[in-house]
Order: sequence, then C-alpha cells, then structure tokens
Amino acid sequence: MEVGYNCSMRLELDTMHVIGDNLALKWKDGEESFFGLDFLRRNCPCALCAGERDLFGNLARQPQILHPKSFQLTKVREVGGYAIQPEWADGHASGIYSFEYLRSLVSD
Ligand SMILES: [Zn+2]
Repeated sequence: MEVGYNCSMRLELDTMHVIGDNLALKWKDGEESFFGLDFLRRNCPCALCAGERDLFGNLARQPQILHPKSFQLTKVREVGGYAIQPEWADGHASGIYSFEYLRSLVSD
C-alpha cells in the first residue's frame, strides 16, 4: 500500500489500450492500471456525476441515469499531459480523469 503522494514524482502515461470491457494504462514508471469501463464510468469525477458540495458541505448529487451505452467508450484523449478524457457512447465526455486520480482509483 502506498501512503501519500510524492509531488516531485510526475506521473506520465506510456500507453493506453481498450481491451474488451477494460481500459489498460501503462505508466512510464512501469506500473500498470487496469479498469473495467463500468467501474471507470461510475467513478467519473465530473461535477455532474460526482456531485458538488454546497456551502454547508452537503453533497448535492444528481442521480445519473446510466444505460448500456454509458459504459461503452467511443474514444479517449489525453489532456495536457496530466489527464485523460473519455468519451462515452451516450455522449457524456465531461469527466477529466487526472493521472493522480486514476492512480488512486483501486479497481477490484
Ligand atoms: Zn461525469
């Protein structure tokens, strides 16, 4: 288990492949991350999916209506060398998954 995040270590993505229902990411430090597309979509970090906190710290989460197309990727692009932005078959593409966020996600 890794504790904390070392800011001096810049995460860099080496390769990215969609294999069946999974997204496989290979990092330049040699680590590999493997996420089910279903898992990835359910952990979408955008304000619409993850919700935004109001002034009182309450999470205003809107229920997302997900259907089979919500878990199909149409494309994934790399954003500014620090994140990836998947585009889903249902048209949702506002989730920007930073490399730190992806590395902190544990798929099981
Ligand atoms: Zn989202």
